[in-house]
Amino acid sequence: MKKVARKAPKKSRKSAPAAVPSKSLEETRAEWLIRAGTRSPSGTSLVMLGTGMPRPDPMCFGPATAIVHDGRTFLFDAGAGVMRRMAAARLSIRGPDALFLTHLHSDHTLGLPDVILTTWVMGRRNKLQIHGPAGTKHMCRHILAAWKEDIHVRIHGLERNSKDGYKVKVREFDEGVVFDEDGVRISAIPVEHGCWRQAYGFRIDTPERSIVISGDTKPTQAILEAARGVDVLVHEVYPSSQVAPEVRAGGEAWPSYMREFHTSDLELGALAAAAKPKLLVLHHIVRHGHDDDELLAGIRAGGYAGEVLVARDLDRY
Ligand SMILES: [Zn+2]
Ligand SMILES: [Zn+2]
Repeated sequence: MKKVARKAPKKSRKSAPAAVPSKSLEETRAEWLIRAGTRSPSGTSLVMLGTGMPRPDPMCFGPATAIVHDGRTFLFDAGAGVMRRMAAARLSIRGPDALFLTHLHSDHTLGLPDVILTTWVMGRRNKLQIHGPAGTKHMCRHILAAWKEDIHVRIHGLERNSKDGYKVKVREFDEGVVFDEDGVRISAIPVEHGCWRQAYGFRIDTPERSIVISGDTKPTQAILEAARGVDVLVHEVYPSSQVAPEVRAGGEAWPSYMREFHTSDLELGALAAAAKPKLLVLHHIVRHGHDDDELLAGIRAGGYAGEVLVARDLDRY
């Protein structure tokens, strides 16, 4: 693609300089990583455990994001490899304080048995708190049924695992506030994700920060409203210029699928320009190679001029 370098017109000293950030994605990311290192341990951190898509990219694990506030860990989605990433991020391998699922697509839930069973094997004794849309109870029941023999052996064999630690307490939510304890309020935001009847994003408010996680969605007004002026908006995105029919059975529907289920860089640029988050974090990106700068160009062309970065697994902001 032809690159167009535009020089900003020279301005007189009297006029206020326009707020056009010249920073690269990497420079912005480096600044936020450094800033996270100075954050108080009792503060609120955002940990990008897995930033990937269904394609098994070894650098991008399945979608999973943690918010740590004052020693408590709240996990959003459980993609493949989530417990390995929890360990790598030095979060408790006995599990999060609560897990929240945006929707039940497999890439967001492949790590659910991992969270339920590994945390138990590693010593969890209390029920795991899970908040998810309708269907979450059904899914958890079937996971426990699938691992019935394992659970029996670990309790009654010589491992002597706790008799209750594998259990889960599932709350299925609709929309609105789904969690509100000790300064952490989490609200579910209904989003439009193709033919999924229930899919959600989340807004997390602590005394220190406000964060919105989009979940999987096409541009949704409810996310825009929830994200107005927030500290961080974590949003999925795909590069609009690279969407084309795929050479496979059913591949002709790929562009329609992307439009109905996901958000393009141009669309996200327009949404973020209206919402004005203090930081826009891109994750869950359909990658076609080194397309980060192309994504940035799309976001800028959509109208957003604020801080933006592309998340990598294990980043902490
Ligand atoms: Zn999805
Ligand atoms: Zn997804």
